[in-house]
Amino acid sequence: MPDLPAPGSMRELLDLDRRHVWHPYGPMPGRQEPLVVESASGVRLRMADGSGELVDGMSSWWSAIHGYNHPVLNDAVRGQLERMSHVMFGGLTHEPAVRLAKRLVDISPEGLEHVFLADSGSVSVEVAVKMCLQHWRSLGRPAKQRLLTWRGGYHGDTWQPMSVCDPEGGMHELWQGVLPRQIFADAPPDGYEESYADQLRSLIERHADELAAVIVEPVVQGAGGMRFHSPAYLRVLREACDAHDVLLVFDEIATGFGRTGTLFAAEHAGVTPDVMCVGKALTGGYMTMAATLCTSRVADGISRGEVPVLAHGPTFMGNPLAAAVACASIDLLLGQDWRTEVKRIEAELREGLEPALQLPGVRDVRVLGAIGVVQLDHEVDMRAATRAAVREGVWLRPFRDLVYTMPPYVTGDADLVRITRAVCAAAREG
Ligand SMILES: *Cc1c(COP(=O)(O)O)cnc(C)c1O
Repeated sequence: MPDLPAPGSMRELLDLDRRHVWHPYGPMPGRQEPLVVESASGVRLRMADGSGELVDGMSSWWSAIHGYNHPVLNDAVRGQLERMSHVMFGGLTHEPAVRLAKRLVDISPEGLEHVFLADSGSVSVEVAVKMCLQHWRSLGRPAKQRLLTWRGGYHGDTWQPMSVCDPEGGMHELWQGVLPRQIFADAPPDGYEESYADQLRSLIERHADELAAVIVEPVVQGAGGMRFHSPAYLRVLREACDAHDVLLVFDEIATGFGRTGTLFAAEHAGVTPDVMCVGKALTGGYMTMAATLCTSRVADGISRGEVPVLAHGPTFMGNPLAAAVACASIDLLLGQDWRTEVKRIEAELREGLEPALQLPGVRDVRVLGAIGVVQLDHEVDMRAATRAAVREGVWLRPFRDLVYTMPPYVTGDADLVRITRAVCAAAREG
């Protein structure tokens, strides 16, 4: 077996990568050569090919909200590492997990009381779905086992989450017919329309006997198309779910921890879901961890059932390193005026992305909180768009017809200007 290449033999590293390593949503061997990152600090990725640094416009898929190599987060990991990096969570517990659960209960919408610490966002959605189905099963209503969502969503890549992702044109279209068949409303319009609210109400009413839960991403649909919608629809869902004995799940994996301008997107509507998933920015982008929160009503339903346990227990459940850095990340966020920072980024993105509207091939430009999106009228040429962004000194990862950014909250004004210029350049050349 060949050894790892000596430092500097970039060609060999990339050849091995191409031959052996799967990358997200990629074929084997890979078709698009990845860039090699040597290290990262603040909002900058240092490239291993000696080409210098790129400003990160992606927060490593919504997660690195405080930037990279943050001294406070590094200390949290180091401190925990010296005590223990992991112990099993069956029959044992530890301070980082308990502290994290308490923090999540304290900062999430009123009424969410219980926390399942999962090891990735997709798994937290699996757990959410299991909780909802089991709740009804325990109450003697096993027919309530389907889910309702709206089109344009994304909830992860494992089986149940795939079944509620956008069924058309999305990344899981291949599996229609194999996945559990869920119920889909149209994609939510950006503004409030009574006729759309009526569609939601009537679908919930019509399918109430077979519906365990409605699951949606509140306010912002992320990887399903980067669309925004009126928070008023969340109140419509809450009322209709209450009226027809259906649980409501918010997937806040992308929107949580301040990204949309409120700590959780549910706050835009003043609505508490029965179950809520968080992930991505939970650990400040340091480690994989997610959480599923639920109300006492959901937990009681499960715990009074014929099988009065939630049969789920990942090996790395409650991982102490991840829990410790998650606590530190939340404290870091709440200990600063993050609302002002997100507002500042929102204003910069609005100003910097407005010129994109004048570009040929641009259909829409939209900004909410620290999220900026340029939608094209054609499929983006990913290679050309990425190259254009890199030429501006910025890392972006466009997909479908979208060039977008969600920068770390610590991104300074000059770097935000660079990022918006790069988004415009990528939209022009992609
Ligand atoms: C990323 C994402 C997931 C999946 O999380 P993973 O950690 O990638 O499994 C689920 N839901 C939403 C809204 C997401 O953005």
